[in-house]
Amino acid sequence: MAGTSIKIGSAVIEVVQGDITRQDTQAVVNAANEQLAPGGGVAGAIHKAAGPQLWEECRTLGGCKTGQAKITRGYQLPAEYVIHTVGPVYSNTPQNAIDLASCYHESLLLAKNHDIESIAFPAISTGVFGYPVAAAADIALQTVIAFLKEHGQPRWVRFVLFGENDYLVFERALLNLAKKG
Ligand code: ADP
Repeated sequence: MAGTSIKIGSAVIEVVQGDITRQDTQAVVNAANEQLAPGGGVAGAIHKAAGPQLWEECRTLGGCKTGQAKITRGYQLPAEYVIHTVGPVYSNTPQNAIDLASCYHESLLLAKNHDIESIAFPAISTGVFGYPVAAAADIALQTVIAFLKEHGQPRWVRFVLFGENDYLVFERALLNLAKKG
C-alpha cells in the first residue's frame, strides 16, 4: 500500500489511501454513533465486515458519548479489536475541536492500555458529521503526535483515507507538521 510516513521517536505515523475494514493493524477505529449501531459510512462498513457478533457485543455497552471511546473484539475483521469513538457533529464551535481531539486521545489511551501495537484510524467526523477535512486532519495528526511523544506507543499509527482528495489533505498536513518538528 503506497503512503507517506514519519517517525516520532521509535513510533511510526503513516497516511495511506484505502478501506478501514481491510487493515491488518491489531486495532481499527470505528467512526461510531452514540448508539454504537451499524448505520452508514465507516460504521456500516465495519459492522458488515465484522459480522453480526460485533453488534451483539456493542449493544451490551450502553452507547458511547461524543469524544469518548469503547473497545470490542474485531470478529470477522482482520483486526483483533475495534475501538469505537463518537466524533462531534460539526457546528463550527471551539467545542468541536476539543471533542475531535478527545476521540483520538481516548482511542489511543484504550489502545495503550490493551497493549495494542498498531492501530488504524479513519478521518473521524469528516463524512456525515461534516467536519472540514483540512481542519480535522490537523487536529487528528497533532493529537496523535502529542500522544506518541508522551507515551511512545502504540508503535504504529495508520490513517486510512477513503478518497484521494482526503488522502492528499492528510499527507500535506503530516508533512507540514513533520517540518515544524
Ligand atoms: P462521521 O459520521 O464520523 O462523519 P463517516 O463514516 O460518515 O463518519 O465518514 C468518516 C470518513 O470516513 C469520511 O471521510 C468517509 O469518506 C470515510 N469512509 C467511509 N467509508 C470508509 C471505509 N470503508 N474506509 C475508510 N474510510 C471510509
